[in-house]
Amino acid sequence: MGYDKSIAAFKEAYEVIPGGVDSPVRAFSGVEGTPPFIDHGKGGYLYDIDGNRYIDFVQSWGPLIFGHCDSDIEAAVIEAAKKGLSFGAPTTVETELAKEIVDLFESIDKVRFVSSGTEAVMSAIRLARGVTGRDDIVKFTGCYHGHSDSLLVQAGSGAATFGNPSSPGVPADLTKHTLLATYNDIESVKQCFADSKEGVACVIIEPIAGNMGLVPAEESFLQELRELCDANGALLIFDEVMSGFRASLKGAQGITAVKPDMVTLGKVIGAGMPVGAFGASREIMSHLSPEGPVYQAGTLSGNPVAMAAGLTSLRKLKSNPSVYVDLGNKAKRLMEGFKSAADAVGVPMVTDVRGSMFGFFFSDKPVKNFADAMENDQKMFAKFHKGMLDRGVYLACSSFETGFISTATTDEMIDDAIKAAYETLGEVSK
Ligand SMILES: *Cc1c(COP(=O)(O)O)cnc(C)c1O
Repeated sequence: MGYDKSIAAFKEAYEVIPGGVDSPVRAFSGVEGTPPFIDHGKGGYLYDIDGNRYIDFVQSWGPLIFGHCDSDIEAAVIEAAKKGLSFGAPTTVETELAKEIVDLFESIDKVRFVSSGTEAVMSAIRLARGVTGRDDIVKFTGCYHGHSDSLLVQAGSGAATFGNPSSPGVPADLTKHTLLATYNDIESVKQCFADSKEGVACVIIEPIAGNMGLVPAEESFLQELRELCDANGALLIFDEVMSGFRASLKGAQGITAVKPDMVTLGKVIGAGMPVGAFGASREIMSHLSPEGPVYQAGTLSGNPVAMAAGLTSLRKLKSNPSVYVDLGNKAKRLMEGFKSAADAVGVPMVTDVRGSMFGFFFSDKPVKNFADAMENDQKMFAKFHKGMLDRGVYLACSSFETGFISTATTDEMIDDAIKAAYETLGEVSK
């Protein structure tokens, strides 16, 4: 495959955009080669500006559960766009989408729309602090909740510890209220509660972690987390920006019996348009402006074109819930294929699947938390990624990302990707 036009485009972009990209994950920093610049997508395929075709397992990092250019979503967006792109005034489509979400999620009576997952989580945290009157929050090492100040906190040395900012520009005064715990380790959460002097407003978790690779939380861990929050008067927030409508129609909440106090949504909820949302009980949401004192706002929040895309996508999913069986089967077959290809050449690999989400690590032991994930063979991943890309398979360019199946991903695409994995692993394991 030739990448000449993408290489030139990347150089040109580099001159005027930091790193040549508008989100760092796109830069191929952890793998070999330059990022293909995309011309268009169709169904399960992506096409770059050099004319290469790829089977797309990234799907804009999750949102495109119906693949590219789904005709229903496309029609809804065009129809909405013709009426005007934005009004900054209420529209009925917001209520319609809100009703669909309230209907799906037991823990949500009311929902507020925003324009990104980052904004959804940032606002949910503010609301949790406003409701409880406490400042401290607990997050898990390796969970990503967007790039807002309080949440941009990295791993300490594994033990529960007060967070240090993981980026210059984030005041330590702010992140000192963010306590770090270890995923799937309840003792580390208890330590955070013990360390917090002023009390914990909320614990935020990806109930199916997708930002350290795919690492699901154990059911017993989530149950203990629920009990710990209740015992301490802290709110439990499920960040389902990625797992919502992906792991199942109800996200992680279709899988676990544990009920959160607040939920954040994004990605699939906008079907490729910028939408995020956060929701909770009527009581909690009543603290939000203009009903209550906790301020939150947005010029483009509930944008009618974005809402139309989300509503169409959600209604399609609801009217055909069996899609998740098919998506899950394809994800399982893909991971079994990758695993067989790795076994055939003696390369260690562990895999996991949750609905349309799949993950694999070049590792010989199960991955339960971020420290485990860090032990994966990242050099092997970089070579695998390059070999797959050269064979027309577009995987996320980091070993800490989750892969996605769309309804446009065909059995033939799965077969082709498995064949590419056999060829690539045969080559790179030598
Ligand atoms: C992607 C993601 C976010 C951030 O969403 P953006 O739309 O990128 O701001 C937050 N939380 C989780 C779990 C995510 O996967």
